Amino acid sequence: MQWTRDDRPRRITLISTGGTIASRWQGTGYAADASGDDVLATSALPEGVAVEVVDLFNVNSSRMTSARQLTLLRAVHAALADPGVDGVVVTHGTDTLEESAFFLDLHHSDPRPVVFTGAQRPLGTGDGDGPGNVYDALQVAASVRDLGVLVVFDGRVHAARGTVKTQTLAADAFADPSEQGLGKVGFGSVDIRRSPDRPTPLPLPVAGLTPPRVDLVMHHSDGDPLFLKTSVAAGAQGVVLVGTGAGNATPEIAAAVADAVSQGTLVALSTRVPAGPVAEIYTGGGAVDLVAGGAVPAGTLRAGQARMAVLATLLSDVTPDRRPALLHGLLNGPARPEPALTAAGSRFAGGS
Ligand code: ASP
Repeated sequence: MQWTRDDRPRRITLISTGGTIASRWQGTGYAADASGDDVLATSALPEGVAVEVVDLFNVNSSRMTSARQLTLLRAVHAALADPGVDGVVVTHGTDTLEESAFFLDLHHSDPRPVVFTGAQRPLGTGDGDGPGNVYDALQVAASVRDLGVLVVFDGRVHAARGTVKTQTLAADAFADPSEQGLGKVGFGSVDIRRSPDRPTPLPLPVAGLTPPRVDLVMHHSDGDPLFLKTSVAAGAQGVVLVGTGAGNATPEIAAAVADAVSQGTLVALSTRVPAGPVAEIYTGGGAVDLVAGGAVPAGTLRAGQARMAVLATLLSDVTPDRRPALLHGLLNGPARPEPALTAAGSRFAGGS
């Protein structure tokens, strides 16, 4: 579907949080220090679009925290409380952009868009990608509806769900390795090819909650349950186990998962492989045993976003016994038709 705008002027709120797009040289390296107005001043504005800037934080996004993500969620909702606002753009560091965007998407029930963007090259450099990304993000925010939270980068439009940073330095920094992007933006138009799969949005978390500790633990050859057990002992209410292959570990780790779940820890199971779903194929410490022990498979979501789903579940007001079911829905989205059987009768075409 092609989105073109009528002549009505549009009002967009730009929330600035830092990142490379706001970064300048500090003598030894780059760090975020520019205001939202400075970031906006680098970009042309799409015709008919007026922008109001909110300076929320000024951090490089490897310093993002759950508390800041909750503040950002509330800032977006505050901006959209004004019915005259047509959409929101969030400028954000690319390192954890996928986490904040997905956390907001899980709580976004408004038809107006929230569009995340950033840059791979710092402010004020002749070859910078920030100005074009800001222009495109404003254009998308002024044009589309009913698509949830989006990531606009290097002329591409992505759904927040499933989209991850796939390049450390290149301008085309984001993709969903398991799914096609939503569309593209350029030459004054926004082309959207598909609707994102989104579960029913959660209500805003109750104000004043202290975010719980949620850890990531990655499996690898030689991996043992030490970090999982340490995480639970440190008070983690949630853990994402990042398995090998289609979500596998060892019998010892499967026992530690079952133990953690029996103590009330919410455990999600993701994979360190870049693309494809977690799948219950292997026993002997594989996903079959991890899921039997209470780990919730993360579908095609990668670790950072699976962690956001665990965090959102723990911040929701559902009772602890209903958390695994809620988490399953947040991780896997609305039910899709079962994939067709392969010739061998397996639902899974690939190996581990
Ligand atoms: N380290 C930076 C950040 O995430 C990278 C970027 O913004 O592109 O803030």
